[in-house]
Amino acid sequence: MTSADSSKALSRRKFLESTSAALVAVASGSALAQETKAPRTPNHTAPYESEPGPKNPQLDDQNTSSNWSPETDAGGQPPFKYPFSFAHKRIEGGGWTRQVTVRDLPISKKMAGVQMRLIKGGVRELHWHVGAEWAYMIYGQARITAVDQQGRGFVDDVKAGDLWIFPGGIPHSIQGIGDDGAFFLLVFDDGNFNEFETFLLTDWLHHTPSEVLAKNFEVSSEVFAKVPPRELFIFERDLPRDLAEEKKQAEAINGGVPNPFAFFTDSMAATKVTKGGQVKIIDAKNFAATNIAVAIVTLKPGGLRELHWHPNEDEWQYYVKGKGRMGVFAAGGRARTMDFQAGDVGYVDKSTPHYVENTGEEDLVFLEVFPTPHYEDISLAEWMAHTPSRLVNQHLETGEEFLNKLQKKETVIAPL
Ligand code: MN
Ligand code: MN
Repeated sequence: MTSADSSKALSRRKFLESTSAALVAVASGSALAQETKAPRTPNHTAPYESEPGPKNPQLDDQNTSSNWSPETDAGGQPPFKYPFSFAHKRIEGGGWTRQVTVRDLPISKKMAGVQMRLIKGGVRELHWHVGAEWAYMIYGQARITAVDQQGRGFVDDVKAGDLWIFPGGIPHSIQGIGDDGAFFLLVFDDGNFNEFETFLLTDWLHHTPSEVLAKNFEVSSEVFAKVPPRELFIFERDLPRDLAEEKKQAEAINGGVPNPFAFFTDSMAATKVTKGGQVKIIDAKNFAATNIAVAIVTLKPGGLRELHWHPNEDEWQYYVKGKGRMGVFAAGGRARTMDFQAGDVGYVDKSTPHYVENTGEEDLVFLEVFPTPHYEDISLAEWMAHTPSRLVNQHLETGEEFLNKLQKKETVIAPL
């Protein structure tokens, strides 16, 4: 060691000492306190790991990363998971719906989600809302309709895997068709959204005097005698007519919407494929009408969605199929890992780094949804690969050989 090196080492040690002193000072009165950790034992048999008393083994088994967190977890990061199973299910004649909003999951300030089942012929009535509605078809088939600000019509049929977007304020409807209707996920760019308080056609007309309706349409008020006395919301009716016929009617005179509100995911190749899985990114670049971006991620057993973050927006997640765990580093020494099953919602704040790992025996499919037209991310590997290797090595001491071999192109999904 040269004298210059030893003085560097000395000043580094001094720096470390002064930072740990500062940390102790902060820790004494702060939620950011570092946990003292007793090591986990393989079967959790240490005296300090014992769990006397009644418990809920099913829930514990589904949430091992909370119950026996990785030793790297620390601090009081609140939960970023909410299962749809906890949500109240509103059941109507034509199907059912339930929602997860910021009122249920406090971290989810910018987005909310809805699950909806429409039986064959089941109609989600003509309505609109302030926020935009983005959808992912999970099962079956549906007929969707909308009209834009210039009176241009939109009618189409969607199937499992397809998406739609209804921009804020655009009136629309959904009807289950095919052999067994549809089941789908809706995502709204408003955490406080409420599916039970949308602008419904029947609710509005029921709350408008019939003489005003008669004047508005220049007909006798008798025409509105059968407007239902309460909202229909989700109800069962006959199946729609032929698609071409309904499309033609909706597009008469003004034409159709210039950018279709539906997107057929099987029409595109995967954006990235590795041995560990694949991802399809659908945003305004390939789905012009959308102001909500998505990454549809499939991870093979053991597959890893690499360490990354999103500099432009919060991420709302939905676990479609399989089992996984997500690790989130929330700065200030706080880190938390949580487990996810099909039907769970996850949430990550803008620029907060995270990874997702398939912990099951089948493929894990999940959605990363963003309230922005443009998908953006930065991966840890990409950052390190494009920073001088000398500088990164001065932090991590991995050796520059490893750093110089890093992929210069983002991987997205770590190869197995
Ligand atoms: Mn809607
Ligand atoms: Mn992400």
